[in-house]
Amino acid sequence: MSPNLRYDIIICGMGCAGLSLADRLCSDEFSNKKILLIDKETKTKNDRTWSFWTDSKTRYDQIVYKRWNHINFYGNSDLERQSIHPYQYQMIRGIDFYSHILQKISAQDNIDVAYGDIQIIEQKENLCYIKTEAHEYVSSIVFSSIVREYPEQDHLFVWQHFKGWRIKIDKDIFDRDTATFMDFRIEQKEETRFIYVLPFSKDEALIEATIFSKKISTQHVYDEMLKDYCQNYLCLDKYDIVEEEVGAIPMTTTPINRATSSNLIIPVGTLNDTVKPSSGYAFIRIQEEADLIIDQLRNDQVKKISKKSKYIWYDRTLLDVIISQREEAKNIFSIMFERNKAPDIFNFLNEKSSLRQEIGIFWTLPFLSFLKAFLKVNVFGLTKK
Ligand SMILES: Cc1cc2nc3c(=O)[nH]c(=O)nc-3n(C[C@H](O)[C@H](O)[C@H](O)COP(=O)(O)OP(=O)(O)OC[C@H]3O[C@@H](n4cnc5c(N)ncnc54)[C@H](O)[C@@H]3O)c2cc1C
Repeated sequence: MSPNLRYDIIICGMGCAGLSLADRLCSDEFSNKKILLIDKETKTKNDRTWSFWTDSKTRYDQIVYKRWNHINFYGNSDLERQSIHPYQYQMIRGIDFYSHILQKISAQDNIDVAYGDIQIIEQKENLCYIKTEAHEYVSSIVFSSIVREYPEQDHLFVWQHFKGWRIKIDKDIFDRDTATFMDFRIEQKEETRFIYVLPFSKDEALIEATIFSKKISTQHVYDEMLKDYCQNYLCLDKYDIVEEEVGAIPMTTTPINRATSSNLIIPVGTLNDTVKPSSGYAFIRIQEEADLIIDQLRNDQVKKISKKSKYIWYDRTLLDVIISQREEAKNIFSIMFERNKAPDIFNFLNEKSSLRQEIGIFWTLPFLSFLKAFLKVNVFGLTKK
């Protein structure tokens, strides 16, 4: 084995989790570590955008593409231009994130980047071996975000799948400071469906058609939803589609990385269940995970970050409502937003709420739907099909 292929740390996957970790490793305190990042793709496309809410500065403030201080929510009633103070809804474009971190990495002599399809990641005794078609690399520790398989057969698994159009129009209709967080006025078609709108200027916005369901839809389904929304809710017959975004996020409380017993191959990101099961948001959680891993590396005590908390009960309950009661989800989100302040809901979804706030939120929701789901998945453990 060439000594060049032996590393202290290898990061498999240069997506959000891998690069968030690599970004923190670009520091003098880790300059004695030989580090390698591997991905099968050169991260040169804007393959996704990350939206999230935050009440403080983040590490990526300088690459935030757009910020909103207000939201609209359309459900059983229309809640327009609600302040979300102290939160702000923000968006980062994937391409800006990738370029920002890869540029930092290129200035580090101790960090290499390689491209290739990783076929095997395994631990043998005290070393990890990573094989691509062309090379075998060896490392003392590996962080991997490569998901091979999703637990799709599990009852508590649903895809959040979507397609977005960035449209440009020839009139000024958008409120630049107000994001439409969820618009449930569209037909639900026995699923949970909504549109969100992120305006960048008065005449340009990202409009995204989102569905929660067991099966990912064909392009035609989203296109119809988007066309219909532009026509009937934005009253537009003419618009240019300047960019498209398509994707699917797994929402589940079943562990995604079930099989590994390795103590040197550490899962991160989606593979480490970092996606919030009931909302599909992960960006901020991935940042928190990366900070915790860096603390562990400083203390030479790296292990899988486990997230055991009371929020798993709420996530299971909400997921069961989304899966078993489908169209009821529209009603539940509507009541949640009508009877609570948006910042309290964000606090709850960020898992930063107090028990009092949680009881406050659950108190406002349809009691029987919730009790039924709560007992089913948390007390009787009926999480299989
Ligand atoms: C389109 C889209 C939009 C999203 N929007 C939001 C949002 O607005 N807000 C939010 O909080 N969350 C969002 N998410 C959820 C979550 O934040 C992202 O999925 C996030 O990118 C997860 O980070 P990750 O590192 O786990 O996975 P990824 O970012 O997907 O990174 C995994 C990396 O592994 C590489 N890889 C995979 N297989 C191999 C292989 N065999 N060999 C080598 N490399 C491989 C991939 O090329 C990729 O670069 C979104 C997800 C998607 C898909």
